[in-house]
Amino acid sequence: MAERTDHDVDVEVLVIGAGVVGVYALYRAIDAGFSARTLEAGDGVGGVWYWNRYPQARFDSESYTYGYLFSKELFEDWRWKEEFATQPEIESYLNHVVDRFDLRRHIHTGQKVASAVYDEAANVWVVTTEKGDVVRARWVISATGGLSVPHYPELDGLDDFAGQAHHTGAWPHTPVDFAGKRVAIIGNGPSGAQLLPAIVDVVASVDLYQRTPTWTTPLNNGPLTDERHRWLNDNWETVVKVLSTSPSGFLHEPAGKFSTADSPEQRQAFFETMWKAPGFGKLTMNYYDMTTNRELNLEFCAFLAGKIRSIVQDPVTAERLIPTDHLFGAKRPPFVADYFESFNKPAASLIALRETPIVRVDATGIETTEKHRDYDIIVYATGFDFGTGALTRMGVQGREGLDLSKGWEDGPADFGGFSAHQLPNFFFPGGPHGAGGGNYPRYSQDQVDWITATIVYAREHGFDVFEPTAAHQDAWMSMIETLAPKSIFSAEHSHYYGANVQGKPRKFLLNPGGRPKLHDMLGEMSSTENYTGAFRKKVVNDAHH
Ligand code: NAP
Repeated sequence: MAERTDHDVDVEVLVIGAGVVGVYALYRAIDAGFSARTLEAGDGVGGVWYWNRYPQARFDSESYTYGYLFSKELFEDWRWKEEFATQPEIESYLNHVVDRFDLRRHIHTGQKVASAVYDEAANVWVVTTEKGDVVRARWVISATGGLSVPHYPELDGLDDFAGQAHHTGAWPHTPVDFAGKRVAIIGNGPSGAQLLPAIVDVVASVDLYQRTPTWTTPLNNGPLTDERHRWLNDNWETVVKVLSTSPSGFLHEPAGKFSTADSPEQRQAFFETMWKAPGFGKLTMNYYDMTTNRELNLEFCAFLAGKIRSIVQDPVTAERLIPTDHLFGAKRPPFVADYFESFNKPAASLIALRETPIVRVDATGIETTEKHRDYDIIVYATGFDFGTGALTRMGVQGREGLDLSKGWEDGPADFGGFSAHQLPNFFFPGGPHGAGGGNYPRYSQDQVDWITATIVYAREHGFDVFEPTAAHQDAWMSMIETLAPKSIFSAEHSHYYGANVQGKPRKFLLNPGGRPKLHDMLGEMSSTENYTGAFRKKVVNDAHH
C-alpha cells in the first residue's frame, strides 16, 4: 500500500455545517462524484432550524419557496402544512431530505470545528474539531450561517440570574415550561416578536424589553391548501424559474406600478392590501418606489402607525411601539401574527428601554432606572453576531498567514459573499455580503451551484487550486461600498451594519446589489479569462510521489 503523504486527503470536499445550505452543499458534492463529509456542531441536522426551537419559531418566507428545488419529486411529495411552517416541521423536512438522499452517513454531528488551517505546501485544508478529530480536505465549504453565533447583551450581572435564562438562538431541547411563570423577553426583532404572542396566554406575566420599536406587520399565514399544493406542483417549471431568477427569490407578484399612478385615497386602499399581503410581500409587492421615495415611505409608515394605534388599546403603549427613527424596511421588519394584539392581554407589558434603561441583571431579576422586577425566566431575543460571527471564531488560517479573526477585524473582504483572496479552496456560501434583501436559501443556492460548478471545472481541467484574485475581490468590494448606502437595509443601527455587537466595525454586511449583481459578477468571473486566472495547478514537491 502506498505510503500516505502530506498531499493526501481524507475527503475531497469537507462541508462545515448541516443547516439548509450545508445539506445542499453536501448533496451537490456527492452528486458531482466527490468524496465528501460534513462536520456539524449540533447533535442534529438543521442549523438555525435546529438551534432556534423557541415556541412559534417559524418561516416568514413561504415554506415552498424556502425548501429545496433540486428535486421535483421531493418538492411534490413534501406536503407543507402551512404557508409559513413552524420550526418542528422545518426540522423534520431537513431530516427527511438527509435520509431521502442518503446523506446522513456523511454527516458527523457533535463536531464543532476549532480550527481550519491551509497547508500551502500540500494544498490541503487541515480541519480540527473541538474533540480533537482531524479531517484533511482539498476543498472546504463552510456553510456556517450568518445567524449562528448568539449575541448576548452587554449587561452587568448577566450571569448572576438564578432563574432560567435562554437565548432564542440556542434554545434547549427540553421544552421550556412557561405556564404561570414571570417572564422577561429582551429584544423585539423577529425572534422576540414571534415568542411574545406564543406565550402571552400561559404566563403569569411577560415583560417585553424594547430598545428600538419595529415596523412589525402581520405574517398572514394560513394552512397550505390542497388547491395551492396542486397549483405549485402543476406549475413546477415556472415556480423554479421564478424562484431561481427573481431578485427577491419569492413568488410574490409585484404591484407593477409607481405610487404616482394612484391618488392619495387609492394609496390608502393599496396600503390596506399590503397589510394583508403575505410575509415579505409588504416589500416585494409594494409600489416600485416604496424603498427609494422617502415621502411615500413616510406615508406608508403613517398608515402603519395608524394600524398600531387602532390595535393597541393603551395609547401610551401604542405610541411607544411606533418607530420614530427609521423608515419601513430600513431595519429588517418582523412579520408576525398577533404581536401588537399581545399588548392588550393582561399578562403583557412593554418596557421602553430608551426611557428606562436596564441598570443590571441580578439573582432575582432585572433592575431598570425605574424599578426592579422579579422573574422566573429571562429570554434573550437579542440576535446574533451577524455575517462574520462563525467564520471569525473558527480558527481559519489561509495563505501567507491570513488569519480571518484578525484579517477581518475591520470588516470582511470577499468575492461573491462566499470566497476570498488568500483563502484558496475555501468557500463560505451564505457568508457576509452573500444575501441581499430576499429569500436567503435562494441566494445560497446560487452560490452553492457556482461553487460546485467551480470545483467540477477544476477537476475536469486538471487544476487543484481555486482562489479569487485580489482584482476579483476588489471589484466585488467596490460594488458593495458604492451601493451600500443606497440599500433599503442601510439603517446604521441595524445588525446588517454589525451595530448590535459592541466593538464590531460598522460595515455593511449584506450584498446591496442583490441577486442581479451577484449573477452579473459570477457571470463575469466565469468568463474564461477571468475564471482561469483564479485557478492554479499545484505542483506538489513530495518525495513520495
Ligand atoms: P435582531 O433582529 O437582531 O433583534 C435583536 C433585538 O434585540 C433587537 O430588538 C435589539 O434592539 C435587541 N437588543 C440587542 N441588544 C440589546 C441590548 N443590549 N439591550 C436591549 N435590547 C437589545 O435578532 P432576531 O430577532 O433574533 O432576528 C435576527 C434575524 O434572524 C432576523 O433579521 C431574521 O433574518 C432572522 N429571523 C427570522 C425569523 C423568521 O421569521 N423566519 C425569526 C427570527 C429571526 P435594537 O433594535 O435596538 O438593536
